[in-house]
Amino acid sequence: MPRARGSKHPADGLPRRRVAAIQRRLLRWYAAHRRRLPWRRARPDPYRVWVAEIMLQQTQISTVIPYYERFVARFCNVAALAAADEEEVLALWSGLGYYSRARSLLRSARLLIERHDGRLPRQRDLLESLPGIGRYTAGAILSIAFSQPEPAVDGNVRRVLTRLMLTKQKPVQRSRCQRTAAGRPRRAGAPAPGAGRFSEPTAAELEVRARDLVSSVPPADFNQAIMELGALVCRPSAPLCATCPLSRVCEARRLGVQEQVPSPRKQPATVRQSRAVALIHNNGRVLVERAFSPGTPRGLWDLPGTLIPENSEPRRHLERHLRSQGLGTRVGARLACVEHGITFRRIRCTAYETVLDGSALSESPAAGRPARRWVERSHLRSLPMGSAARRLLASCRRPI
Ligand code: SF4
Repeated sequence: MPRARGSKHPADGLPRRRVAAIQRRLLRWYAAHRRRLPWRRARPDPYRVWVAEIMLQQTQISTVIPYYERFVARFCNVAALAAADEEEVLALWSGLGYYSRARSLLRSARLLIERHDGRLPRQRDLLESLPGIGRYTAGAILSIAFSQPEPAVDGNVRRVLTRLMLTKQKPVQRSRCQRTAAGRPRRAGAPAPGAGRFSEPTAAELEVRARDLVSSVPPADFNQAIMELGALVCRPSAPLCATCPLSRVCEARRLGVQEQVPSPRKQPATVRQSRAVALIHNNGRVLVERAFSPGTPRGLWDLPGTLIPENSEPRRHLERHLRSQGLGTRVGARLACVEHGITFRRIRCTAYETVLDGSALSESPAAGRPARRWVERSHLRSLPMGSAARRLLASCRRPI
């Protein structure tokens, strides 16, 4: 039944005219500003959309593109991926980080062959039952690949919607010196416009609003448009409100509080750690072991090494560790050092020139010890290794 002009949306009370204005402005902006990305196609391939969405979790687009292109060139569909060896999948993922995503992709591909004839299902519950696919990723696949009006609320969308649709009652904490929407400094202690009059929507409310907005428009374009706006314009800090297509319908902008919402999520404190690894080589081959200790992603190959407790001398500690793992060695000069992050940890990893003390080395692991391999330097590229080990090996070609 037709609704009267200005009537409320049934789900959350958003005025229909406002929903329509947001949809119209955003889609017009997207048509002019969308980035050309390899997974954005006129006729999206569900498999490629899925691979891209998994790679984009926690990772920037510019980092993902070369990995995505190599991955879909090697595994062009679900069947090719399902038949792959985990080591090859991890090797293609090497350097992208969060390796559980690669293992989940592989497990899901095998489940798709077993249960769904090698196709991605079109039902949210079935998609969400696959490893690595949560609420956001399912919504992105359903809307982008299957044109279903499903919400897909990632961090960018959460930020845009929160700013657009602030509601009542929760004051925003302000620092001593703030600027007004026009850019002029505000007197310390002066009340901010809107302070004490609004609150941020909850995750459930955001989902309802995202669902309202994606209805009655092309879902793939709309969801990608709002993600794109969050990435390019409605940035976490210094949002480009002056050029934003939604500035005239944005509540946070109207109240001059766009930089204060959404309130930042609590991040775990960064933990700093040191790790020492041994560069052991023999006739052009390098000794590597399956990642075994904290600080290295499971399933990857790495240089043999260990975390160094505070106040320990790294060479001696590394030597003791290697001996406990059945490797008698002499640890020598420091060769290279890199720093990398795994979730909330920053790990400073140092490589040392190390020589075996002549004891025979078995590649078959004893109980409780990592598998080991001698690998030709020229073959290291085809091995799944973390970016820290790769960067160290690259640096060790020229001693520091
Ligand atoms: S006007 Fe500013 S805060 Fe509002 S959606 Fe646009 S960029 Fe974001």
